[in-house]
Amino acid sequence: MQLKTLLNRVEKHKGFVFEMPCFGADEAGRERIEVRVRPRARSKGVCSCCGGPGSTYDHLPERRFDYVPLWGFAVVLWYRMRRIDCKDCGVKAECVPWAAGKSPVTRSLALFLADWAKVLSWQEVGRRFDVGWHRVFESVRYVVEWGLAQRDLSDVRAIGIDEVHFGKGQKYLTVVYQLCGGVRRLLFVTKRHDSAALDAILDEAGEDWCLGITHVCTDMWRAYRKVVRKRLLNAMHILDRFHIVKLLNDAVDQVRRQEAARLRKLGVDLLKGMKYVFLKRPENLTENQQAALKGVMNKRWLASVRAWLWKQKFQLFWEYTSPYWARRYLRQWCKGAMRSRLVPLKRFVTTMRRHEDLIMNWFEARKTYSSGAVEGMNRKINLITRKAYGYRSYDVLKIALFHALGHLPEPELTHRF
Ligand SMILES: [Zn+2]
Repeated sequence: MQLKTLLNRVEKHKGFVFEMPCFGADEAGRERIEVRVRPRARSKGVCSCCGGPGSTYDHLPERRFDYVPLWGFAVVLWYRMRRIDCKDCGVKAECVPWAAGKSPVTRSLALFLADWAKVLSWQEVGRRFDVGWHRVFESVRYVVEWGLAQRDLSDVRAIGIDEVHFGKGQKYLTVVYQLCGGVRRLLFVTKRHDSAALDAILDEAGEDWCLGITHVCTDMWRAYRKVVRKRLLNAMHILDRFHIVKLLNDAVDQVRRQEAARLRKLGVDLLKGMKYVFLKRPENLTENQQAALKGVMNKRWLASVRAWLWKQKFQLFWEYTSPYWARRYLRQWCKGAMRSRLVPLKRFVTTMRRHEDLIMNWFEARKTYSSGAVEGMNRKINLITRKAYGYRSYDVLKIALFHALGHLPEPELTHRF
């Protein structure tokens, strides 16, 4: 079997023929496979502007297109682009089916690299196929942009809106993701986390889309609440369990930190190494951590222990099925915690009281969307933003997020490598 036969199997395009492949060398003198492509006799080129056929005006210098490597050899296609005398657009460069726009990377290679970039870091993909980080990035970007242009958002009814910290310093993103229909995917992302950022996202989504949203889930961030009220007019606004649990955990941790510092000054290190003992769910503790917890449990004079007990009591709130009794329990809990003399906990109570209705919406809505999804998406997004893949800028991060979490449609090829 010849290489040409193989190429015709995986990369056949009407109007073009492959010449016999041969060995050549790149700039560094490394051997590679080179294939010249030429238009089939009497075929017409396609205008890159309007997509219509036109007769050939002249030829541009030969251009190189990188193809999927084969058995450790780089493969390149060479082609002299025609300029087309288009009756609508004038003289324009032709558009070739194996590559997009001015890209020197063939669609097949872009998809191949982007596919690998889902399981390996971009750097690693670049190393492994000897194409460099930038080629990998360009490939992922091509696939993501294609997917974003093709995706269909019309059946999205439930969304989550979150702020995500990224990079060094106080940098945040606003992310919107889908929570319904068994699909968890990233829908939008933008820089900053103020109301203008969310407004911009909703502008992009369009008014009709906004009116189709029936459930929206956010954290307590005031900037978002305002926009949600103003623009997602048909949506029930929910404060998800995940955000509340996180807030309560933060309060408990603050109590522990303050107390640990106080005790350290007195020369007592009773709370040393206890951070996760108080934060984790009891059932997730290691044996050592369980022993540590048991060791301090009878010392009720410790503020950290009291805070932990309040946290445990709060767990029961989620067990209720009747919103009526859940609300009663919440109020009772708040009343008690308010008298705990633990300042971070009291602050938590104030927040709960201010958002009581949104919290209670969680009980109304939990049949419609799965609450674990909020936590899951939040984790995944955080993981990607933290990965040191060499995401030098926001634009790169955005592409990476969509690539990993967008569930985007992909360009179809005759062959998957
Ligand atoms: Zn044209």
